[in-house]
Amino acid sequence: MDCGPGVLARLRSSSNGTGWPHVDAIAITHFHLDHWGDLVPWVWGTMWGLGRDYAKPELWLPPGGIEELAAFGIRFGTPDMFSRVFEPREYTEGEEFEAAGLRLVPTRLPHYTVQTYGFRVSNTTRTLAYSGDSGPSERLARLAEGVDLFLCEATLERGELDGEPRGHLSAEEAVAAFEASGAKRLLLTHRPDELTLDAGLEQAHDGLQLDV
Ligand SMILES: [Zn+2]
Ligand SMILES: [Zn+2]
Repeated sequence: MDCGPGVLARLRSSSNGTGWPHVDAIAITHFHLDHWGDLVPWVWGTMWGLGRDYAKPELWLPPGGIEELAAFGIRFGTPDMFSRVFEPREYTEGEEFEAAGLRLVPTRLPHYTVQTYGFRVSNTTRTLAYSGDSGPSERLARLAEGVDLFLCEATLERGELDGEPRGHLSAEEAVAAFEASGAKRLLLTHRPDELTLDAGLEQAHDGLQLDV
């Protein structure tokens, strides 16, 4: 889920010596660069580098995303660059889709004026929810209702530091959404290292592996 700067390098360094990640599918929440920027070097690597012999990963995008990526391709000088390397698909608000053997349901969330979604992701036994980027909203509690793990952004030191309309959460606001959701476990992410967290709150970090 999402593919911002640094993701491709991390996947390359953990690719069992092949130098290129084997990925079935990528699902993008929104078109802010920190959520999709590494699709660009992924394209060049696949077209001319180590990844060129691999099957195309599915690339799940918000509604209108195929056209949006094509517009970036035109600006970057190779209009079909993304569709050469990925199998682009668009998901629809509230409609379940299957990717990499998992079932995902996208829910629209408020994030400044950008079209943004969070995902509920399920296999046969467990469900997690991923907020992507979101301002405070009761939709977050619905997204994460009863899930085993709620991966939620907590970008801000304090909610009042946000822009208008709101686009991010403080840790307190993430906890409020978690408590309203009835989710079993909260894992905070998308948070500057410089910001502290209250004891007892879990924060994701690079390389973290956990059982859901
Ligand atoms: Zn964003
Ligand atoms: Zn972001």
